[in-house]
Amino acid sequence: MKTTTLGSPEQSTPKKIPLRARKLAAEAIGIDSHIDTVQRVLVMGEDLGKRWDVGHVDIPRLREGGTHAPFFALWVPVYFPGAEAVRRTLDLRDAMQSMLDAHPGEMELATTAADIRRIVKAGKIAVFLTVEGGHTIDDDLRVLRMYYQLGVRSMTLTHSRNNNWADSATDNPVHNGLTDFGKEVVREMNRLGMLVDLSHVADKTFYDALDVTSKPVIVSHSSMRALSPVPRNVSDEMLRALARNGGVIGISFGEGFVNPKDAEALESAIKTETTAPLLTGRALDDYAAEDVRTLFGHRVKVAATVDDVANHIDHAVKVAGIDHVGIGSDFDGVSGPPNGLDDVSKMPALIEVLLERDYAERDVKKILGENYLRVIREVTGK
Ligand SMILES: [Zn+2]
Repeated sequence: MKTTTLGSPEQSTPKKIPLRARKLAAEAIGIDSHIDTVQRVLVMGEDLGKRWDVGHVDIPRLREGGTHAPFFALWVPVYFPGAEAVRRTLDLRDAMQSMLDAHPGEMELATTAADIRRIVKAGKIAVFLTVEGGHTIDDDLRVLRMYYQLGVRSMTLTHSRNNNWADSATDNPVHNGLTDFGKEVVREMNRLGMLVDLSHVADKTFYDALDVTSKPVIVSHSSMRALSPVPRNVSDEMLRALARNGGVIGISFGEGFVNPKDAEALESAIKTETTAPLLTGRALDDYAAEDVRTLFGHRVKVAATVDDVANHIDHAVKVAGIDHVGIGSDFDGVSGPPNGLDDVSKMPALIEVLLERDYAERDVKKILGENYLRVIREVTGK
């Protein structure tokens, strides 16, 4: 794994993006179902109102790329145990609130599909909040319900390790999928009107959740196992099951997800998170802060390209159908986005590749956001 320091000129030479792609990016409601930028706000105190040359996402770059409705993940590393994970989720929610309060004319909290359409129409960024990792509810549905009250509308059932009620894709299975309590979590999310997110879960957890859910689910940031056989990606069988459920998968840009040549970088990222010491309080926060700084302090050189991402979209469309595919970049959660998609402002480069591959504008709009808007409406009721 080669790494370079920030600011070094390792990025691919940007190709001039034709007007038709930029126009479509501006017209479409662009949703990205997984963005990890909140940790930059919490740990580094960065103001998203400014354009940064570090990280992948801020308000100016969201606007430039046409991602009008980012799902901002309150991502809590699995080394936050029990109630510490609840505290961390609240800290991240508070960091996001500071941004909403600082930029009321630029961004607004959205909790329904109708909110997203209204806020985007008003020329603002619609912030959709999600929680990453079911360990953050500390096995307590009351905590889940309070996250809902704080505006959170989606949660991944696991992160990179099993929790007490669900098996993860990157751990050794202990529950045979979802436990009875895990099934209760899914039902409660259905009842509240929260999206059940099946990225990061083990295959058995995925199928168990589909058996239980009464609403469409999402797979917010995963790609195709047929093209890059990492456990975090989904198989064709899973894709067909997702289509039957009416759900949507957001194609992830992360290293290893898109091009198998980058799989080593993915494994090392998972290992860093799962080999952390057991800490609490301030010591834990300091450890996590160092972890976040390391993530943003280097850039992994990857083999993946914009064309690779388009290949995953093609495959997902072929197997699941055009109504079940979206974008879930994992920007600011990965150290090596594909060449040519170096940050969120470069999204029109992907749009141009899809147009070159003869996707109709209407279908590109579905992938960019309309499919997610349908699922959000079905789950939240509006
Ligand atoms: Zn993730």
